[in-house]
Amino acid sequence: MSEPLELIEKLERTHSLSLAEYEALLRNRSEALSAELRARADRVRKAVYGNAVFTRGLVEISSFCKNDCLYCGIRRSNGQAERYRLTPEDILVCCREGWELGFRTFVLQGGEDPWFSDERLCPLLRQIKAEFPACAVTLSLGERSRESYQRLFDAGADRYLLRHETADPDHYRALHPPELSWEHRMECLRELKEIGYQVGCGFMVGSPGQTEKELAKELKFVETFRPAMCGIGPFIPHKDTPFRNQPAGSVDLTCYLLSILRLIQPNLLLPATTALGTLDPLGREKGILAGANVVMPNLSPVEVRKKYMLYDNKICTGEESAQCRGCLAARVASIGYELVTDRGDPASPA
Ligand code: SAM
Repeated sequence: MSEPLELIEKLERTHSLSLAEYEALLRNRSEALSAELRARADRVRKAVYGNAVFTRGLVEISSFCKNDCLYCGIRRSNGQAERYRLTPEDILVCCREGWELGFRTFVLQGGEDPWFSDERLCPLLRQIKAEFPACAVTLSLGERSRESYQRLFDAGADRYLLRHETADPDHYRALHPPELSWEHRMECLRELKEIGYQVGCGFMVGSPGQTEKELAKELKFVETFRPAMCGIGPFIPHKDTPFRNQPAGSVDLTCYLLSILRLIQPNLLLPATTALGTLDPLGREKGILAGANVVMPNLSPVEVRKKYMLYDNKICTGEESAQCRGCLAARVASIGYELVTDRGDPASPA
């Protein structure tokens, strides 16, 4: 097996490592290697995207969920969770406010809430696109039928975020109830790509049962699936879930993985997630310095933000949208990058 530094050189040159090589890179993580990866990832990102950081306005449309993922604070068996649902008009108001603030992408995310049928979503999508033809709309509403994905795409949705959560079927079973299947999640991702969406996959870092072996599989999956986006963030326990006593994932490991992902796919859209900022006040800045190039401030109405609690102590639950945007723009500028007003599509591969 090559030395870790040689692995990094090979990764930057070929954008690919074997499973065993990814695992070795993860097992040998050190401050020196992190710094090396960070420097190379930053160089690669600047060559593709310059110092631009894209911004997406996140609208959390519903905290109702029919699923029971063991890690998630809005799982259906959490009787303590406060449930809310925005109306299509509420969502439009968020988009209008977002547009004024410079957002050119709206991400509609929520639990798997059957109330948001195609009959309700399609007219909403058409209306958003009619009012803001220059915007992109991303959906993150979980697993649906192929027909539904097609209808939503035809109504104007451009992108779909569906974290695969883990590339290992056994690990998937440890994180989800038996009625959810890894095979179906993967099938959804393939269908979304076939339909023509810009697809985002992703996984939590430090989820219970995850070791370097599983993480190596995550990296290999991203390498072969070639998504437009990949959302990774530390797992953070939620007090009313079966994983309440599990330790949170690591910010440093998340940053290490962000750098590796940037070298795997230089044009990948990589968010510095809210979970990073929740665990460490400078977590998002660290994520950007490690290679991330997207931030997703919250555009949801302030009165519902505390109800979309996927994990404990989530940040930005009290701020107005404008405060969120202003605060992030200043943070991004403080480390030498620029929050841009742009749809933020993936750059074509070099
Ligand atoms: N229902 C949609 C879905 O399943 O894709 C979108 C909403 S779901 C709550 C969004 C993401 O939140 C999940 O894909 C998961 O990775 C992340 N998440 C859930 N619980 C979390 C936790 N305790 N810590 C960190 N991330 C979490």
